[in-house]
Amino acid sequence: MDIIERRESAVRSYVRAFPATFAKAQGALLYDTSGKRYIDFFSGAGGLNYGHNNPQIKAAIMEYLAADGVTHSLDMATAAKVRFLERFEQVILQPRQLDYKVQFTGPTGTNAVEAALKIARKVKQRANVVAFTNGYHGLTGSALALTGNAHYRNPFYTSRANVTMMPFDGYFGSEVNTIDYFRKFLTDSGSGLDRPAAVILETIQAEGGINVARPAWLQALAALCQEFDMLLIVDDIQVGNGRTGRFFSFEGLGFTPDIVTVSKSISGYGLPMALVLLKPELDQWLPGEHTGTFRGNNLAFVGATEALRYWETDELTHAIQRRSRLLDQRLHTMQTSYPQLEAQVRGKGLIYGLAVGDPELAGAIGRESFTQGLILERCGAEDNVLKFLPPLVIEDELLAEGLSILNRSIATIVG
Ligand code: PLP
Repeated sequence: MDIIERRESAVRSYVRAFPATFAKAQGALLYDTSGKRYIDFFSGAGGLNYGHNNPQIKAAIMEYLAADGVTHSLDMATAAKVRFLERFEQVILQPRQLDYKVQFTGPTGTNAVEAALKIARKVKQRANVVAFTNGYHGLTGSALALTGNAHYRNPFYTSRANVTMMPFDGYFGSEVNTIDYFRKFLTDSGSGLDRPAAVILETIQAEGGINVARPAWLQALAALCQEFDMLLIVDDIQVGNGRTGRFFSFEGLGFTPDIVTVSKSISGYGLPMALVLLKPELDQWLPGEHTGTFRGNNLAFVGATEALRYWETDELTHAIQRRSRLLDQRLHTMQTSYPQLEAQVRGKGLIYGLAVGDPELAGAIGRESFTQGLILERCGAEDNVLKFLPPLVIEDELLAEGLSILNRSIATIVG
């Protein structure tokens, strides 16, 4: 740790919450250099949905490396990319009757968001975009301008010109319908809202505190987008790739986004990769208009292709539903057992939050959990929401063990 503290920039973050040097990882387990074992309820912020060193995905990548497969290819065609596109079409797009063009962007979520905004603004020939309170879309220029949390914002970093924030579902409590509020801004010529090219949102705000939008709200938003000719961009970077139980978070909710951003777990192995999915008529890019040196990460394509096997059957979806029930039940039990927490439970699939009344208390529980061998992140603008994001493939026993560690940690802290 000495070199980290002495040499690594002050911008470092997770190493402060999880002060160990990790050396080995398998599935939902991490081990530090002393051999201490940790259960991972964080999954690389959603980058490791299929677990650490998933054996099948690892085997495919090792085989590809051993055969001297191309690793870096910009956006030239490679056998690995062709295979990924074919399988993505067969396993994900066609069965869901989705027709999207696939854009490979620079391999971070935030770059996919930048690209999605650029193409939406270009197609609609309008600059303004609507984003939502407590949303998080990454920290580069235009993506940062959409991000709610004041911690990340500094007016000198980026301009909020051409971004209008609207209240997310439930922002004012259950009394106010925030779609009506948005509609009023669209219809009132005195509202000051420039006609938006697009609306961007997470169906479940992850960094923002695990705020789950209701299906009816999402459907009303999709209808509003149609009515006012605004593109609907779903940022599925954190809650896609099966996190909610289906491959895309919007599946079965009764609407189809115009643009979808995908990253994090798409490679299956924690390797950098990002996509923008576009309705074909929106694919109005000029060749090379949005480029990036690392758009051709072929090891990621091989991992991604192998990970798609999980979506050939419903087995993973059923396992996620089973684990989700366990998580939901145990969190509700803790909510009732420890009224001092003034806790709220929210989530879906394998993304859950335990919102604790006092952020200090949430911090203390997180730190105690880490000491007892559980990696648990916090989220929300006040950092008061304990966030549960275990690998989708976590064994039920490990999930239960992690929750027992949490229960013990809460008991230790609140007495
Ligand atoms: N969008 C969402 C919903 C995210 O959760 C994140 C990262 O947490 C991003 C975008 C940015 O992705 P990246 O950190 O890879 O730039």
